[in-house]
Amino acid sequence: MNVRLYEIFTSVEGEGILYGTKTLFVRLSGCPFKCFYCDTKDALPMNSGKEYSISKAKEIIKKSLKKNTYKVNFTGGDPLAQSNAVAELAKFVQGKKIPTYLESSCYDSSKFSQVLPYMDFIKIEFKTPESGFVDTKHYSKLLENELECLRIAKKSKKIAYIKVVISSKTQLSSFKQLLRKIFKIISKTELAGFIIQPTYGISEPSLEQLFSFYDAVYTYYDQVRIVPQLHKFIGAP
Ligand code: SF4
Repeated sequence: MNVRLYEIFTSVEGEGILYGTKTLFVRLSGCPFKCFYCDTKDALPMNSGKEYSISKAKEIIKKSLKKNTYKVNFTGGDPLAQSNAVAELAKFVQGKKIPTYLESSCYDSSKFSQVLPYMDFIKIEFKTPESGFVDTKHYSKLLENELECLRIAKKSKKIAYIKVVISSKTQLSSFKQLLRKIFKIISKTELAGFIIQPTYGISEPSLEQLFSFYDAVYTYYDQVRIVPQLHKFIGAP
């Protein structure tokens, strides 16, 4: 089995419930989408980065693991685009007693199930139709998969949180519909967080818009947070 890696680097988590923590990032090549706000566009093509055998990739990761590496984040692109390889690599990292973290848009629940046993932290990202990456017909299929991933994560009792990117284009009405579906599946005690992430540098939402989205989540879940991407402010990759 081979894997295409785009880059491996140590940085600070700039998003989600673990923001501010130091992490080794393993960025996989390839993502089937093209969100208008994507900040890793160079890693989207399946032929980006460099191809390695799994054993070579394990060797590279092993060399990058220092005694002060506290966790490994599998990101992309979307790691599910290479789920077989990600499962192998995450299992390898867990075998070294280092926690693993999956950042994915959860577009395929079968692939998600394949990597889940080897992940300690999971971000389940929900896209809104205004993300501009997929047409209406495909949006419903994506949403079904995201909701199924949430169900699977809940059953697994792993540490799972939700992230939604909000831009000035995001409609509050479609967001509220999404919330109804999410909180039919999961209760507030089963969720490790709900992050509203404003877009940065493109179609940025106003503070007033962000508060409307915050208030909509708060009715279900009072631990909601608005968290901008920290790494953009401190010059970290
Ligand atoms: S799903 Fe993530 S990696 Fe893929 S295009 Fe959208 S923002 Fe970029």
